[in-house]
Amino acid sequence: MNRFDYIRPASVAEAVAAAAGPGAAFLAAGTNLLDMMKVGAARPDRLIDITRLPGLDRIEALPDGGYRVGAMVRNADLARDPGFAAAFPAVAEALLSGASPQLRNMATVGGNLMQHTRCAYFGDTDAACNRRHPGSGCDAVGGENRTHAILGWSPSCIATHPSDFCVPLAALDAVVEIAGPEGTRELPLEAFHLLPGATPERETALAPGELVTALLLPPAATGFRAHTRYLKLRERTSFAFALVSAAAALQIRDGRIRAARLALGGVAAKPWRARAAEALLEGASPDRATFERAAEAALSEAAASGDNAFKIALAKRVAARALLRAAAGTPARMPALPGSVFATEPGEFAHD
Ligand SMILES: Cc1cc2nc3c(=O)[nH]c(=O)nc-3n(C[C@H](O)[C@H](O)[C@H](O)COP(=O)(O)OP(=O)(O)OC[C@H]3O[C@@H](n4cnc5c(N)ncnc54)[C@H](O)[C@@H]3O)c2cc1C
Ligand code: SF4
Repeated sequence: MNRFDYIRPASVAEAVAAAAGPGAAFLAAGTNLLDMMKVGAARPDRLIDITRLPGLDRIEALPDGGYRVGAMVRNADLARDPGFAAAFPAVAEALLSGASPQLRNMATVGGNLMQHTRCAYFGDTDAACNRRHPGSGCDAVGGENRTHAILGWSPSCIATHPSDFCVPLAALDAVVEIAGPEGTRELPLEAFHLLPGATPERETALAPGELVTALLLPPAATGFRAHTRYLKLRERTSFAFALVSAAAALQIRDGRIRAARLALGGVAAKPWRARAAEALLEGASPDRATFERAAEAALSEAAASGDNAFKIALAKRVAARALLRAAAGTPARMPALPGSVFATEPGEFAHD
């Protein structure tokens, strides 16, 4: 690990000021950043500890029916917040399917949005990686890439974004609140994570020194709570990142789908909003044939990047099954996927 300065600012303004200039990194729970620093994949020379900033740990129900969730709220606390879980059950389901109970008790909302790719070459400082060292090449192309991207990738980088949480957030039009040197701004989550193109080192639309302060869920997102699910497929039952996942949300009236939201995880460098599938779903009958057609549409632009062609077929099945589960109705008690065979949490949580 390299030597670094440690700064603990007392306000958001101080944190942003301390982050000016190259070499700074915000430290939330450190469950991702410290791992990256230990292997040398991240080498900040200034760590800005944001854990004590006032007001960033609040979950607020807004008068219009939406929610504001501070960047330092713990993933486990958000999943277990009764009001939040009732309003956005698939978001709670996604949170509880991520990592292990111990990690969820530490990891923060802002850190989950900002976590780095789990591409093994990114964490291996002997490997060529355009994301870590622009212009050095990409050892994943032609290497071990069965878990890599099938949508939106470029020859520069075929990594995926690993978050579960961000997938239903993308489906529900969540917005990221950001503080920076010029003041505060809001950015739709869909525009927050970037596809690699020729600049894979730019993972998000954050400008240097900008801090994520909160996540906003719009009131319209609560309109899907009766028919919504998150489905994650991974290589083992114990905690692991998604091979492929899907968040589905429907509004069904008089036997027809009136509104539909579908997003995929594990397929691209950002949570992937499947708008072509949504267009096909709206007005259609909520049955298996419709959902299979929608899943085809969602993956129509998919391309294998090497050993991962199987993920295209897998993603279609996961998308169709998530839609089927959503159509069946959000369970009164949402089953939590087993985080680990050693999970200490009960297998279910109430969301109503
Ligand atoms: C073994 C293991 C398994 C995991 N499995 C899963 C999984 O299945 N699904 C899943 O979704 N995640 C999983 N994770 C990832 C975990 O959720 C992240 O490590 C965690 O969310 C990061 O949060 P943190 O608060 O620890 O962030 P940190 O590690 O402190 O920060 C991560 C990055 O975000 C930046 N950052 C943090 N907060 C802010 C902010 N407010 N504004 C701007 N930048 C910020 C930091 O500078 C750093 O670059 C796993 C992690 C581990 C170690
Ligand atoms: S896929 Fe992206 S993160 Fe992985 S080695 Fe290539 S450039 Fe680096």
